[in-house]
Amino acid sequence: MHIGIAGAGLLGRLLAFQLARAGHSVEVFDPAPGPQAPTGGVYAAGWTAAGMLSPTAELESADENVFALGLRSLELWPTIVASLGLPVELHRRGSLLLAHRGDQGAARRVVDLLLHKAPAGHAPQLLQAATLKDLEPDLHGVAHAWLLPHEGQIHTMQAMLALAHAASAAGARWHWGSTVDRLRPGEIHTAQSVLAFDCVFDVRGTGARPPANTSDPYAGYTPRVRGVRGEIIWLHAPHVALQRPIRLLHPRHRVYLVPREGGHIVIGASEIESEDRSPISLRSMVELLAAAHSIIPELAEARVVHTETNLRPALPDNLPHVEQEAGLVRINGLFRHGWLIAPALVEQTLQNLT
Ligand SMILES: Cc1cc2nc3c(=O)[nH]c(=O)nc-3n(C[C@H](O)[C@H](O)[C@H](O)COP(=O)(O)OP(=O)(O)OC[C@H]3O[C@@H](n4cnc5c(N)ncnc54)[C@H](O)[C@@H]3O)c2cc1C
Repeated sequence: MHIGIAGAGLLGRLLAFQLARAGHSVEVFDPAPGPQAPTGGVYAAGWTAAGMLSPTAELESADENVFALGLRSLELWPTIVASLGLPVELHRRGSLLLAHRGDQGAARRVVDLLLHKAPAGHAPQLLQAATLKDLEPDLHGVAHAWLLPHEGQIHTMQAMLALAHAASAAGARWHWGSTVDRLRPGEIHTAQSVLAFDCVFDVRGTGARPPANTSDPYAGYTPRVRGVRGEIIWLHAPHVALQRPIRLLHPRHRVYLVPREGGHIVIGASEIESEDRSPISLRSMVELLAAAHSIIPELAEARVVHTETNLRPALPDNLPHVEQEAGLVRINGLFRHGWLIAPALVEQTLQNLT
């Protein structure tokens, strides 16, 4: 089949890779100047994501379908990564939920919810202090800790590059600097032309929102997609040896730390109902860093090397949606779970297509 894909973010690259590899003729359209990591402007949320693959922890706000897609994706990622041809950091060493003594109430609520929602074998496991010390010797001052043994992490920037590289190697063609204004079954409309395909995919994330006051059903995604602001901070802390992603359960903010190769730690992320893409606020910076420092005091000497803001594409129920008709597939609403669920969602969608 001749396939057109609008959007070269996480979903666009994964679809391009899978479809080109399956022998289809694939063309991808995106306003970005190229496949490389962005240096500014508006770009895919996929670049900014911390890359936590946390089906159980995400059950706090997601449903059983996201959990199941997450588990399946955890099975799929190693095979995908192994066939990309470029290195991508991927680990499955579990993740930790932590709480300070005074925050036990907030932590208890989350842990009880996860105990209730997670299937047997995936529930949080309470850790004794000695076990925690063995797992993560650099953590200090933590009163309560739980292990989520099946969770993982992926280096999102490496994966974005590697997916584009592998899709190109499989024959996918890219139209960079190309904004898609409208999609119809079998058609992609750009400012320059209308192109015909056997099937088109709309995976434009927040860019899929229809212009205001249009009644054209093909102008954009309904129900309305919105962007949810997220801010992250990159630290360089080669003297801190974290082995796995960590979430601090706190009454006011959710904070996570994700170690990355090269001595980096990604600290995230705010979740703000706003489409403001401006740089990180002082408040978010202070809250995120103070929380991180409270569990790893050695971070005091870390260097803040990068901060970033982006928008998570979300639908009103904050759940992923796939809409399919002959010649047109729309996938959107991956919200804060994109890396967690994308491989399984793409697998399911392509199975339904055939
Ligand atoms: C701060 C932050 C932290 C996150 N952390 C995690 C995490 O730890 N784990 C996890 O699983 N998920 C995480 N996510 C969520 C994840 O990044 C998203 O769910 C995922 O990127 C959504 O994928 P997508 O392909 O739908 O959209 P995107 O990755 O945003 O890609 C959309 C693409 O469409 C393109 N586009 C837009 N408009 C047009 C147009 N008109 N024509 C053509 N192309 C267009 C854009 O340029 C972009 O390339 C995080 C997100 C953020 C912002």
